[in-house]
Amino acid sequence: MRSLNIDAKLSVNKFNVDEGNAHIELASQIELSEFKKLAQICPAGLYKIGENGELGFDYAGCLECGTCRILCEGSVIKKWEYPNSSFGVEYRFG
Ligand code: SF4
Repeated sequence: MRSLNIDAKLSVNKFNVDEGNAHIELASQIELSEFKKLAQICPAGLYKIGENGELGFDYAGCLECGTCRILCEGSVIKKWEYPNSSFGVEYRFG
């Protein structure tokens, strides 16, 4: 049976990051239990919890799936929009 390497699949996508306009912004006060959900569920692994408990997030590799918005808009997620035209993920298949 062939195994699926998610990192290899994701690496073929291209990202045109809008450095001046984050399409996702986090709230200033974040409940750890809410953040942990996103650290587990984001398919791009963009929500991270460091060894010392520090919270990290980078919108640059976002796949625009909307999962974090559905789970935590209004708690962890302060702003969620699609990137402006010509920015964001460009999916490649194969
Ligand atoms: S939209 Fe999807 S890929 Fe982007 S940060 Fe949220 S969960 Fe991760």
